[in-house]
Amino acid sequence: MSKLERREFLAAASAFAAAAAFAEARGAEPGDPSFQNNVPDPLLAGESLPTFKFALEKSVGKVVGGSSGKEATVLQLPISKGIAGVSMRLEPGAMRELHWHATAAEWAFVIDGRVRTSVIDPSGAAETNDFDPGDVWYFPRGHGHMLECLGDSPAHFVLIFDNGYFSEFGTFSISDWIGHTAKPLLAKNFGLPETAFDGFPKDEVYFARGSKPPEKPSTPLQGWKLPPLTHRYQLLAQPPHRTFDGGREWRVDSSRFPISTTITGVILDLDPGAIRELHWHPTADEWNYLITGTASVTLFGSHGRYRVETLETGDVGYIPQGYGHSIENVGTTPLRMLIGFNTGVYQTIDLSQWIAGNPADVLARNFGKPASLFEQFPRRDVFLAPGKPKA
Ligand code: MN
Ligand code: MN
Repeated sequence: MSKLERREFLAAASAFAAAAAFAEARGAEPGDPSFQNNVPDPLLAGESLPTFKFALEKSVGKVVGGSSGKEATVLQLPISKGIAGVSMRLEPGAMRELHWHATAAEWAFVIDGRVRTSVIDPSGAAETNDFDPGDVWYFPRGHGHMLECLGDSPAHFVLIFDNGYFSEFGTFSISDWIGHTAKPLLAKNFGLPETAFDGFPKDEVYFARGSKPPEKPSTPLQGWKLPPLTHRYQLLAQPPHRTFDGGREWRVDSSRFPISTTITGVILDLDPGAIRELHWHPTADEWNYLITGTASVTLFGSHGRYRVETLETGDVGYIPQGYGHSIENVGTTPLRMLIGFNTGVYQTIDLSQWIAGNPADVLARNFGKPASLFEQFPRRDVFLAPGKPKA
């Protein structure tokens, strides 16, 4: 190696080491095609797989009056490095105050009640939307927003963030910021007398409480200045993406909801005994919230590592990118699961599809079984199978 080659080699090696250290510090980035995605995660490098379940609704979280937020981040569920989630309830008259998230985009699904949001983008465009059960919102990383309970019933919604290190309790709130800024600075900032800021909250309000919002949204101070892309998508108001003997699936990614470039959402219904078949996602981690039912979730992590968890209503599950898994309704009632992926472009490879993509002789050789056996296998993707095999 010449002096020059050696210098280039050392520069490349140190760049690689720096990139690897960086990747390890932030975790593998889903959908990232670079080598950084291959840096092993120590948590997933052991002889057995760690737990991938967290009883979210059994946790306490943050409670203010009749409002609460319960979160699942890497603190509660260490495997969930790519996605965090929050189950939030707002009582009538309550709002989750104006805030932004420095490190994550926010996607949400409304389970009960009605919610109003406002969101600002860097061009100054602002949108106000009202949400019913089954509706979805998406706020890009860093865009300021608020959430209000509408009407006389409490609202319940599940928030999904495209970063497992995100914490809902570490977000940037407007009251926290203004409360810690000196009055002369605020007065100069807004061209107002200092007394205008007398009596402002000194600390973060988080859940603000007041009168119920008007039924029709009021006009913003600047007037209506709408963004080019809406932040609302009415997921369950659409027909299912696919319907099967045994269940159905609603899915929304950036092809249907263009602003949602980093998160895909799914509502999966499984009849008793039905199964979302063995599969994996090449480009995304998967986050599960069981809205109702009992699910047996299997996880395959290579090298003989296999783990099964039973999720009950209100539990959260997590499947790392590329790991094999399945979801089965092992209860006696219908199952509904909310699933989030940290990608705007959904991809899956199902085991039945993979097998159907190979000739019988290849399968015979692989398993040491007669080719005639594999002639009986499905010729197409199964995706979702009913509870009882067809007679
Ligand atoms: Mn938020
Ligand atoms: Mn999956």
